[in-house]
Amino acid sequence: MTATLFNYSYHHTSTQGIDRRAGTQSAVRSVVIVGGGTSGWMTAMILADALIRKGVAITLLESPAVEIIGVGEGSTPWLRGFFDSLDIEESEWMPECNATYKCGIAFDKWSTKPGFERYFHPFASMLDNFTMTQFVHNARARVNGAEVDAHPDRFFIATRLAEAHMAPIPAGNFPFDIWYGYHFDAVLLGKFLHKKALERGVRYKSCHVTHADLNERGDIASVATREGETIAADFFVDCTGFASLLSIKALATPFISFSENLFNDAAVAMPTPMDESIPSQTVSTAMKHGWAWKIPLTSRYGNGYVYSSSFCTADQAEHELRESLGLLEADTPARHLKMRIGRLAKHWNRNCLAVGLAQGFIEPLEATALLFIQKTAMGIVEYLDNGDFSEAAHDSFNQRVNEHFEGTRDYIVTHYKTNSRTDTEYWRANATNLTISDPLKELYNNWMAGNSIVKQVKQSIGQAYPVFSWYCIMAGMGIFPDQKSLRPPNASEKKFSMAEIDNLLTRSAVNFRDQKELLEAIPPRREDESLQIYFW
Ligand SMILES: Cc1cc2nc3c(=O)[nH]c(=O)nc-3n(C[C@H](O)[C@H](O)[C@H](O)COP(=O)(O)OP(=O)(O)OC[C@H]3O[C@@H](n4cnc5c(N)ncnc54)[C@H](O)[C@@H]3O)c2cc1C
Repeated sequence: MTATLFNYSYHHTSTQGIDRRAGTQSAVRSVVIVGGGTSGWMTAMILADALIRKGVAITLLESPAVEIIGVGEGSTPWLRGFFDSLDIEESEWMPECNATYKCGIAFDKWSTKPGFERYFHPFASMLDNFTMTQFVHNARARVNGAEVDAHPDRFFIATRLAEAHMAPIPAGNFPFDIWYGYHFDAVLLGKFLHKKALERGVRYKSCHVTHADLNERGDIASVATREGETIAADFFVDCTGFASLLSIKALATPFISFSENLFNDAAVAMPTPMDESIPSQTVSTAMKHGWAWKIPLTSRYGNGYVYSSSFCTADQAEHELRESLGLLEADTPARHLKMRIGRLAKHWNRNCLAVGLAQGFIEPLEATALLFIQKTAMGIVEYLDNGDFSEAAHDSFNQRVNEHFEGTRDYIVTHYKTNSRTDTEYWRANATNLTISDPLKELYNNWMAGNSIVKQVKQSIGQAYPVFSWYCIMAGMGIFPDQKSLRPPNASEKKFSMAEIDNLLTRSAVNFRDQKELLEAIPPRREDESLQIYFW
């Protein structure tokens, strides 16, 4: 898999097989979504786009008594595809959600290895095809003992842009598309999507669902509300967050915990004022018992500390976060949250699909939750349309989502497993944790032996993260022989000139602008039609 893959695969593809002509009726006639957080509204938008014109009634129920989780302020580049596929311009949604552009994530203090105390996990772009080979070549040469530069920060344009607080939107004449994500205010995003979904025909009811009634087959027949209504539908979507009201409570779908792989189960969040200049990266800093995020919005920074309650108390976590932000004496309110880490055994069970936190969560380290929402909701459209509710359909859908969960989990686990901190029991326990998947063990073994890891990533770990991301994390964490045991590279190992790479990136970076300046007048979507025609 190369970086090129990223440039077009974000487009809305899952519903392509669906006959979108008005009048061609879908097999399912009514869908009820329970929950009005980001997952509820994103699902409503995706289903509305594909199915309302085919006569499907989509109704979203939201409790007036249960707040949305209100965190989740970073995305992967797939969110760009979500908005593009719905024809919503950045200039429309971003200002309403105080959104900023995101070039990737900086990992600070996760490694103690000299020269590797910080690295950047960039979102890849077409331009990276010019430097990817060099990076992978050098990383492999260094694992094999050659003293060559293999820190990922030297190789990618997104890293340059993030360092300079630039937006990943190139000038019109720049021939390469850049792959980027966003930061946004989660509450404002929910409000924006709510408004758009109603405009597109989704029906809305503020009501608290007390329980679901099952029919004789064991499917959900209807949900009952505290307000005294009984609401029936052909298909239900559980977007009730960690409550998982329909999937776990009504259908007793088993939940598979990841707590043996991932220790974090709690978070504390608090805002700080924005600086004069707006960064274009998330910063993830290792703390004593977890890590802290710093996410730039146009209005403020969102900060939070994700930690393991087995290793520290909520008060200790809040104190450590306040101290790191210089807020020990401030009366800035803190929000404390619990997290359930793992996934449902079946995301689609009977006539109910779980989406968002109701289906599972792999902690926010790589900001992947919205991507799961998007993929799960898009993946079900075809089945709703053609009415294939067979066991085989359930199995293949669930297998795909589960593989994505497991692949993502393995990537997140790698951040902890490769840490070299010894300052607390938390970090030592993470580094020595042997509960990791077999494909991951095999990948580590191959890396340490200086072999290619392409096969493991493609065949065993799944498609959650591209090969390039795996090279970034292993190289970025400094998983190489110690500096003192490195030897001078031979001619084939020293094949590439770092000066040339520096030069290419420096010349490319002049095509980008300061993020704050660009956000003041967000340009219209760039179609790059010519490139699409030539490539695909
Ligand atoms: C600390 C933390 C940080 C995170 N950071 C990120 C990030 O950076 N990037 C990312 O992609 N994701 C992140 N996430 C995940 C992200 O917040 C969620 O995936 C996203 O907000 C979707 O949540 P949700 O809609 O599933 O649930 P919620 O926001 O909890 O919404 C649940 C909805 O269900 C409704 N509801 C509940 N019970 C009932 C009932 N009985 N009747 C009717 N309605 C009901 C509620 O009213 C609410 O509308 C983070 C999560 C946590 C915990």
